[in-house]
Amino acid sequence: MTATTAPLLAPTTESIAAAAAALRAGSLVAFPTETVYGLGADATDDRAVAAIFAAKDRPSFNPLIIHLADQAAAEALVEMDARARILATHFWPGPLTLVLPRREACPVSLLASAGLDTLAVRVPRHPVAARLLKAFGRPIAAPSANPSGRLSPTTAAHVAEGLGHRVAMILDDGPTAIGLESTVIDLSGPDARLLRPGGLTAEEIEAVIGPLAGVEAGLGAAIAPRSPGMLESHYAPALPLRLEAFSVEADEALLAFGPQVPPGARKTLNLSPAGDVTQAAANLFAFLRRLDASGARRIAVMGVPEQGLGRAINDRLRRAAAPRPAFPD
Ligand code: AMP
Ligand code: MG
Repeated sequence: MTATTAPLLAPTTESIAAAAAALRAGSLVAFPTETVYGLGADATDDRAVAAIFAAKDRPSFNPLIIHLADQAAAEALVEMDARARILATHFWPGPLTLVLPRREACPVSLLASAGLDTLAVRVPRHPVAARLLKAFGRPIAAPSANPSGRLSPTTAAHVAEGLGHRVAMILDDGPTAIGLESTVIDLSGPDARLLRPGGLTAEEIEAVIGPLAGVEAGLGAAIAPRSPGMLESHYAPALPLRLEAFSVEADEALLAFGPQVPPGARKTLNLSPAGDVTQAAANLFAFLRRLDASGARRIAVMGVPEQGLGRAINDRLRRAAAPRPAFPD
């Protein structure tokens, strides 16, 4: 973070190369897409993705859209079935986001998908976004470039106002054409489902792959749980969690935080030995998964301070620790 506000740069070969270099260095870059301005980071860099959540000051982790140069880049990250390929052929590049199963070897940060086994992918149509993706050569995680709770930015000036001091630079190509966010379709289950209405209409999509689930529910579909009590955007480990742990039992795994770690756990992973909440956020989902597979009976979790990203970390840990109803499958 710098005290001064980032430069607004017209998109040229030089400024786009500089933006790609900033992304490679782990910095955040704001760039135009055809929907709204995005707050971009290297999607494969846990620290850079954590910086997105810190910059937006989001009180919880929700999965981010991964922006890609072309369909081939998407195929490398997620399992695309026939429906996905047909939609990609029709609407990419464009304002359509597809939620698909992550491939085993998918290099995208688990924080970017909030620990889920699925990933939201999109190939944007805006020429500046396309040139940046090509110059960078890697996936870019990018939510809308506004502080949490504020309107999505459709001009570079909006971005500068809200997040100018959190980004290395803002690529300025004037107002965005659509001004609405991308339409999000979940293709990770048997029924294609509208998760978020957006720049591409449900009718246009249904004309290609047939009826979408969730359309009749209207806007509410974007937040409707897939099954009772289970919000689809929430990852939770299989093992029970014990929060605010000061000591640890022999059959527990320990998710530690800070320099003072109680001994005796079956396996310990420290989110941040230095007590840095942004580093802790970067490690959170990957470490929970590793402890989940450690053979322990339970995961003990040390307290994380309620400041900065600590709020989002605690939000996710509390949800994961809450009693969960059992489902038949
Ligand atoms: P934003 O990045 O702020 O434009 O929002 C991204 C949208 O995509 C949100 O509505 C997310 O809930 C949704 N989304 C992203 N990834 C996933 C995923 N893996 N599963 C379900 N929804 C997702
Ligand atoms: Mg947004």
